[in-house]
Amino acid sequence: MTCVRTRMAPSPTGEMHVGSMATLLKNYAFAKKHGGQFILRIEDTDKEREVAGGVAAIQEIIHRYGLDWDEGPDKDGSFGPYIQSERLAIYKQAALDLVANGKAYYCFCSKERLSDVKKQQLADKKPPHYDRHCRNIPLKEAQKRVAEGESYVIRLKVPENQTITFTDLIRGQITFNSNLIDDQILLKSDGYPTYHLAVVVDDHLMKITHVMRGEEWISSTPKHILLYQAFAWDIPIFAHIPVFLNPDGKGKMSKRKGMVSAASFLDRGYLPEAMLNFFMILGWAKKDQQEVISLEEYIREFEPSDLSSNSVAFDIQKLNWLNGVYIRKLSIEQLKTHILPFVSANFPLEKLEEVLPLIQERLVTLADFDQLTKFFYTTPNYEPTSLLQKNVSKELVIEELKATIDSIQSLTIWSLPHLEKAIRNLQEKNDWHKGQFFMMLRIAATGEKATPPLFATMIVLGQDLLITRLQEALNKLV
Ligand code: GLU
Repeated sequence: MTCVRTRMAPSPTGEMHVGSMATLLKNYAFAKKHGGQFILRIEDTDKEREVAGGVAAIQEIIHRYGLDWDEGPDKDGSFGPYIQSERLAIYKQAALDLVANGKAYYCFCSKERLSDVKKQQLADKKPPHYDRHCRNIPLKEAQKRVAEGESYVIRLKVPENQTITFTDLIRGQITFNSNLIDDQILLKSDGYPTYHLAVVVDDHLMKITHVMRGEEWISSTPKHILLYQAFAWDIPIFAHIPVFLNPDGKGKMSKRKGMVSAASFLDRGYLPEAMLNFFMILGWAKKDQQEVISLEEYIREFEPSDLSSNSVAFDIQKLNWLNGVYIRKLSIEQLKTHILPFVSANFPLEKLEEVLPLIQERLVTLADFDQLTKFFYTTPNYEPTSLLQKNVSKELVIEELKATIDSIQSLTIWSLPHLEKAIRNLQEKNDWHKGQFFMMLRIAATGEKATPPLFATMIVLGQDLLITRLQEALNKLV
């Protein structure tokens, strides 16, 4: 069997969409599964839409997701260059070869003419196709006009009334009629190839065996097949992957309903491993139905033909759950590394390692750190009445606070067992209502009703700060 070679071919026209990252993962995994190569090719032939720094951004975000390519812009295999704008001569030659073989032709139509033709077709309610005005210019004559410097494009001579069929790995057989296909431009007047020419030439020359891409490219595939046929090249295997729907299940996932870039999720505190796992289970399931899947397991089991052909919603609840699972898998050292970009400048960094075990369970995203730990460095702000839970009298709470302050002040060893023992003894000895007393202490110490375990939190706050907080609570009541 020939070596499996897959590719991702992003255009540097903006931030990479999560859907593209999910497609990239499938290409990556499938190549790895078969001991093949995954190629990163930059499709930058649309210079008008290109954004500055776009190529570097693509490479950076793939690395941030923990993935890599075997061949690409900075990793030469023997099929480079991997940036299309560096391959212009190759495309031009390919287009000329097609012209020479009678599979493509020079077209000299002006923009004005094309626009008039289109207007007329629209008025006649006909599909706006090129009217093939130049299709039958004798080659010699066309070559002469080119030699004289006339501006031209090269178009594909789409055969008439031909059935184009291909088998999509996910969707099965797909058939188009060539009459519905325009005589595509292959080479533009500025010498740049169109996407259709470049993608076919590159997938062929780079020996790509499986083209797995978003389903939005399905309608381009018959054009590509016609090109493969025109060149008399082998046709790769195609798999068109369904797009994600918005989290509410309605419509294609789009910017309008929230952030969609692959980078934005990492920036909001989702772990790359959780994102990848999430991508794995959208539209595909492991045989044992396990949802927490490592990359190694995925590589072993992933089969494009098992992908659902239906679009699935980008279920944020599930992503949140997975992110929590992955956060809890991290060692404190790893969590520390991941969370540092999310730690507020006001947070006392020397407490980070003590705080992390207290909140690890409670983090949905890394960005929750701030909200969960604010009370460690900001004076709690709450109404005095919050200290009076369960209809307790003010006098009793004052007594509880005073006794607790005394007990904490008299501790000579600041440790969890000592603190816990002292305070529990106090509660038992006085027979204070457990729920009331501990909730009151929690609010006095942190200003919050829900916090990490109380005694551990108190230990991290430190003896002095804790006493200050309890004193401040007392002051609110007297
Ligand atoms: N350059 C296209 C894109 O930006 C690639 C499409 C394909 O994979 O053929 O998605």
